[in-house]
Amino acid sequence: MPDAATMDKIVALCKRRGFIFASSEIYGGLGSTYDYGHYGVLLKTNVKNEWWRAMLQERDDIVALDSAILQHPRTWEASGHLAGFTDPMVDCRACGQRFRADHLQDLPCPRKPSKHPGDAEPCDLTETRDFNLMFETTMGPVEDSAATVYLRPETAQGIFVNFKNVLQFSRKKPPFGIAQVGKSFRNEITPGNFVFRTREFEQMEMEFFVPPDQAPEWYEFWKRARMDWYTDLGLRSDHLRLREHDPDELSHYSSGTADVEYLFPIGWSELEGIANRGDFDLTQHAEYSGEKLEYFDSQTKERYVPHVIEPAAGADRATLAFLADAYDEEEVDGEQRTVLKLHPRLAPVKVAVLPLVRKDGQPEVAREIVAALRGRMQTEYDEGDSIGKRYRRQDEIGTPFCLTVDHQTLDDRTVTVRERDTLAQARVAIDELPETLTARLAASWQSPKLAPA
Ligand code: ATP
Repeated sequence: MPDAATMDKIVALCKRRGFIFASSEIYGGLGSTYDYGHYGVLLKTNVKNEWWRAMLQERDDIVALDSAILQHPRTWEASGHLAGFTDPMVDCRACGQRFRADHLQDLPCPRKPSKHPGDAEPCDLTETRDFNLMFETTMGPVEDSAATVYLRPETAQGIFVNFKNVLQFSRKKPPFGIAQVGKSFRNEITPGNFVFRTREFEQMEMEFFVPPDQAPEWYEFWKRARMDWYTDLGLRSDHLRLREHDPDELSHYSSGTADVEYLFPIGWSELEGIANRGDFDLTQHAEYSGEKLEYFDSQTKERYVPHVIEPAAGADRATLAFLADAYDEEEVDGEQRTVLKLHPRLAPVKVAVLPLVRKDGQPEVAREIVAALRGRMQTEYDEGDSIGKRYRRQDEIGTPFCLTVDHQTLDDRTVTVRERDTLAQARVAIDELPETLTARLAASWQSPKLAPA
């Protein structure tokens, strides 16, 4: 059966339920920038928290960092971004639009009869030229070239320039990692496909510093670990693959790069990159800053520049993948339902408490249940509309459990617990809800959409 998820349906659901919508909408929107509403914030926060959990809580060899978005301009000279962070671009003299020259076959031509830019007349493409993707701005009140700074195009360089600081206070020695989550900015020539490619986005990057001879084994380790992270959070394994770069795709300093790819509705596309970056970054920053960026092992008396393994993921792209993987449409009792079968740990709301009617003491009991649960899990109270409509709303948000307070509740202090995935309903005593739901949320979960092996 074809997957129910299409990009249009995901975009529509995100808008309808307040996950993600176009930014500056009242002014007609600003190309490819998006705002996250309540459920979108909760979902993306859960994605980032799961990443932090895997990096920090479940290991003891990684520390956290939050570096500034604006960095000394020399950072970008040393990293190579100022000279080389470019994409090939062409202009069309006929329609005045700009396109990424290496993506022409994936882009629609805004003017007929061409399907893709440059296919046929009247398209009139210029020669390809390099376009630097960094956003430039000026720092301070004087606008001259000395005040030019850049919005960071990746979070990684903030980690490299802090290598020495972290080494001093963290009491770590290689192999160890520094992890960072934060906004990055790229003036993409052709952004698009919703939050897949935007000009402002969030990255989750970790630089793992290792003794040079251990780099190959840690590269293998992180490729496996990152694939497992996605499948543990419910992404279907048949929609996920690891693609090793061909030698001609590699940056000159990388001895290995692999992309975690997900089968998005737009086809297989990069979700995350894992690279063996050698000693390139620390060597460059040492040269440009004049600081020694190396490790001295007091036991072996060895001094060396650690090599770096980097898993670099996008928080927005991962959120989109989880949404696409979860989106489903089903027929239930002759009615269509749209449901997000998200891993319960990622679901924006864990439990909704719904009084059947807005009287007879039911709202009061429902509020009492909310008060007992909200310290443990994201809980929502909803009393508007028919119960059917409220279930559909929670299904579209991906809420794993709905608790219904009804007449019987007032007699025996039990509620109906409705499961999102199976639609099974069972009565549970109010006093047992906190323990029962906490245990069920912690249980392992597999996407019901996963085709049986
Ligand atoms: P792409 O080839 O798609 O442009 P990239 O290889 O340049 O991506 P990296 O520099 O490796 O990407 O960045 C790491 C991750 O950051 C990507 O795998 C992706 O998840 C995310 N990312 C990069 N650019 C964007 C963007 N413009 N919008 C949203 N996420 C992005």
